[in-house]
Amino acid sequence: MKQTFRSFYALLLCFALGTSTLYGGEPVKNIIFLIGDGMGLSSVSMMQLVNEYRPTIFDEADNIALQKSYSADNRVTDSAASGTALATGHKTNNTYIGVRPDGSAVESLTELAKRHGKATGIVVTTVVQHATPAAFYAHITNRHEYIAITEQLVVSTLDVVVGGGMSLFNERYSGDVERVIADAGYHLVRTTEELEAASCDSRIMALVADKEVGADSGDYLARATRKAIDILATRGGDEGFVLMVEGSLIDGMAHGNDALAQQREMEGFMGAIEVAVEYARNHPDTLVVVTADHETGGLALVSANSDFNLSEQGVEFRWATDGHSAQMVPIYLYGCGAELINGIMENAELGTKLKAIIAE
Ligand SMILES: [Zn+2]
Repeated sequence: MKQTFRSFYALLLCFALGTSTLYGGEPVKNIIFLIGDGMGLSSVSMMQLVNEYRPTIFDEADNIALQKSYSADNRVTDSAASGTALATGHKTNNTYIGVRPDGSAVESLTELAKRHGKATGIVVTTVVQHATPAAFYAHITNRHEYIAITEQLVVSTLDVVVGGGMSLFNERYSGDVERVIADAGYHLVRTTEELEAASCDSRIMALVADKEVGADSGDYLARATRKAIDILATRGGDEGFVLMVEGSLIDGMAHGNDALAQQREMEGFMGAIEVAVEYARNHPDTLVVVTADHETGGLALVSANSDFNLSEQGVEFRWATDGHSAQMVPIYLYGCGAELINGIMENAELGTKLKAIIAE
């Protein structure tokens, strides 16, 4: 009811002002953008089943939408092209990061936010040089050029970087990693505990693992998200912040067709969403957007017995592929401006809408 009233009020205000104002309500100051890599609607449905239909954080969404994940050169996207679409508002080719199909660079929404005075950050469970996070700071046609991506991260404008990937820094800068990171203006920390104890005034590079943070990382993503929000809220001040959080390994567990492992990754990701939504409930100028870059595994939730008409026959988790699929993926919206993102859209359209909100 409150939602309906606010939308109606926004419409009235647009009429009164005689403008095509994007949003007539409270301006969106902060955006927390959470991406479940490989998280399909079936992954969300699986969590409903294993939680025996108790409401999850997904059920608390103020609005929902769907997006089409295909890339510029393939009906099945990889994380580079879909990450670029979400981060920049441009569809591109598979393996391309932060560039159009012709190779020219496009600004990411975190780069745009920085130009508008906001603090920006990324928090992931994979290496910070992986395709999805890289789409927010790097510009390169080959996602596998990790050394070049590491170099681009060092000179990025991000205020907070949290994840794995220390071994790639060691590979590029050998014994000089601490000096290089300090010279770039970052305070380097190596554990989640050090991150939590760090000052909120400094830029932070938290490289908490040599490679990925780990499939059994427990509440790491929720804790890292909470601290990243604290730092960005401090650094962004009145201008606010944009934070991208990735549940990176949901995808990897689906590539391995391991439903139990994917449930653990989903639980970790949902913990981070809960932190973000709680912040938005306490700070009504914050928009939380949760989506996926694509679905992985072609997960199907099928009756364990074809004769399911008579009574409960159980549900099996079946995988159609060890690769990605072409399914649409869901978008869940919470808080300020949730009504701005509606219906069925291209993945790039979501990136474009978020950029318009940031630039308003
Ligand atoms: Zn994948």
